[in-house]
Amino acid sequence: NRRVVLNERPVGTPDENTLRMETGPVPEPGAGEMLIRTVYLSLDPYMRGRMSDAKSYAEPVAIGGVMTGQVVGQVVASNNEKFAAGDYVLSPSGWQDYFVSNGDMVMNLGQNPENPSWSLGILGMPGYTAYAGLLKIGEPKPGETVVVAAAAGPVGATVGQIAKLKGCRVVGIAGGAEKCAHVVDKLGFDVCLDHRADDFAKQLKDACPDGIDVYFENVGGKVLYAVLPLLNPFARMPVCGMVAWYNMPGLPDGPDMGPAILGTILRMKVKVEGFIIFDSFGPEVYKEFAAEMTGWLKEGKVQYREQVVEGLENAPEALNDVLTGRSFGKMVVKVG
Ligand code: NDP
Repeated sequence: NRRVVLNERPVGTPDENTLRMETGPVPEPGAGEMLIRTVYLSLDPYMRGRMSDAKSYAEPVAIGGVMTGQVVGQVVASNNEKFAAGDYVLSPSGWQDYFVSNGDMVMNLGQNPENPSWSLGILGMPGYTAYAGLLKIGEPKPGETVVVAAAAGPVGATVGQIAKLKGCRVVGIAGGAEKCAHVVDKLGFDVCLDHRADDFAKQLKDACPDGIDVYFENVGGKVLYAVLPLLNPFARMPVCGMVAWYNMPGLPDGPDMGPAILGTILRMKVKVEGFIIFDSFGPEVYKEFAAEMTGWLKEGKVQYREQVVEGLENAPEALNDVLTGRSFGKMVVKVG
């Protein structure tokens, strides 16, 4: 059983000393337990947070502990009546080949799911995050302008497509021409801007002639600063993530933006609400999401792009790719 463990807490960008691969025996399932073999491992920006012991909504990974992660796996052997050998499952197995579970927090996907890995993306945590954050906090209305960055990634791409289904004007932000072309041509956003452009703030202003009603916050950084002066009275800002800052060891250089941020929130009466998907929303919202998203996918109203990297040994580098924008689409590692 190969497993990737946290070797040391990174300062800044994780490097080759942050994680290490260990090998051990394949664990045996006891009474009421099952052995799950990892097929796909999901890589997500929150994993950078788990490497840090700063106060957060979840416990950090311990030094020497297996890195946290959701996987789609297959049951190899089962002593649990709810799961049979051959069943596909969504499981919190972490970054390893095998995992023994008593079934807690494991979802049975059946023997023959159509797209097993989608449970890690559009039909799982990132898709649900986009759905609940946009509709329950962002509350977009037809004709309003919605802005979202990381627009080629699983959360942002889904936010923008749902906002289009709700009749909004949607401005995406992504890194580079290829991603921007995908966001407009394949996902149907009205506009997509490259946040690396020198005149990005001006481009955003031109792209939002009626201001911004919903800013779905995925990234922070200079995207947030360009959005601030464009927010309309009573704008909504679901605060989902701030990936531009995840690798930052301390506070950034430059002017204190606190007064500009709070001042805008005050004067424009902006609703700002942070959320952590499984803490903030209950099972009734999840059910609504699962039913509606399944329908949209069947009808071709929502498109989904995945990037599959082969081999558990390549997971550390692939996670850095997610954090820095070298990935394109939902990142999953094909493990077995
Ligand atoms: P992505 O796969 O889209 O990866 C993050 C992307 O952010 C990168 O690929 C990069 O794309 C972009 N990015 C990185 N740095 C910057 C920067 N400085 N400025 C602008 N864009 C940048 O991630 P997800 O879709 O999985 O997640 C999106 C956000 O949602 C993250 O912040 C994540 O932490 C958050 N999240 C929050 C949840 C919650 O419960 N609150 C649950 C799930 C996700 P590009 O090439 O376009 O720059």
